[in-house]
Amino acid sequence: MSRPRAATRRGLLLGAAALAAPRLASAQQASAQQATPAARPPAARTRLVLLGTKGGPRVGIEQANPANLLLVGDTPYVIDCGYGVSRQLVRAGVALPSLRHVFITHHHSDHNLEYGNLVYNAWAGGLRTPVDAYGPRGIEQMTRDFWSMNRFDVETRMADEGRPDPRNLLTAHDIEGPGPVMRDERVRVTAFRTPHPPIVDNYAYKFETPDGVVVFSGDTAYNPALAEFAKGADVLVHEAMLLSGVDDLARRNPNAATMRQHLLDSHTTTEDVGRVAARAGVKLLVLSHFVPGDMPGVTDAMWEEGVRRHYAGRLIVGHDLQEIALPV
Ligand SMILES: [Zn+2]
Ligand SMILES: [Zn+2]
Repeated sequence: MSRPRAATRRGLLLGAAALAAPRLASAQQASAQQATPAARPPAARTRLVLLGTKGGPRVGIEQANPANLLLVGDTPYVIDCGYGVSRQLVRAGVALPSLRHVFITHHHSDHNLEYGNLVYNAWAGGLRTPVDAYGPRGIEQMTRDFWSMNRFDVETRMADEGRPDPRNLLTAHDIEGPGPVMRDERVRVTAFRTPHPPIVDNYAYKFETPDGVVVFSGDTAYNPALAEFAKGADVLVHEAMLLSGVDDLARRNPNAATMRQHLLDSHTTTEDVGRVAARAGVKLLVLSHFVPGDMPGVTDAMWEEGVRRHYAGRLIVGHDLQEIALPV
């Protein structure tokens, strides 16, 4: 239904001005530049932005599906691409054509559904620079499949609108196992395998930035070893599951029993998140990827309660588009 409408709108825009795409892109960049650094303290060189905090693939009108952003200087590092990541990035003031690095923690769809479309959307906005995407085995094939699925549109626009070939701009990298993933002038990224049954190729990521170390747990069952990986980190962004909410969530599902068991086996209760954070000795714990993620009546205090039984440090119950400046 929405497809012809979108195509028509694009057609009209292009009819109005053949140069619309580059002009839109630079206008977007300019407004992002005005909107971001000027309004912030100069020390905040690195920023963490929680793009989507709701765990799981269900789409709602409140919280967005999982995605995070690290901005180091003006370079975006996107961690996970749940549905809506493109729009959340725009809302966060990031010009999509400035996309540079994408990291996928695992191949559940709430983490990769908009991966290809994010790159597409950046290209539609005027992307002309390389993008590197890293993820568990399969991201290279997924990338080929994405371009295959969208070949007609991409090749039409290349010929019709003079755009560069996006297939040459995007390089996907299968991560073969835990260890170093990438390194550039300012950032070093390391992967750590963590259990999320039945998925085996599932990674937490550590980002060493000039302003501190940020660890993303990704989706994980309770994993004491994650405390070693996150030892002394400035920020730990950890998923969280509220036991009392899981039963309510399961009740809304036709496959309640199976769903409940999957959640218990593959996610971390708030109490266990507190255990990991305390053992790791992190400066700041940020809860995100909430399971359940958008249940009416669940308050921040309810998420904190279990964590506080074990962890006394700084704690943020994450909300969409919340920003955390580093150093913390
Ligand atoms: Zn998830
Ligand atoms: Zn998952």
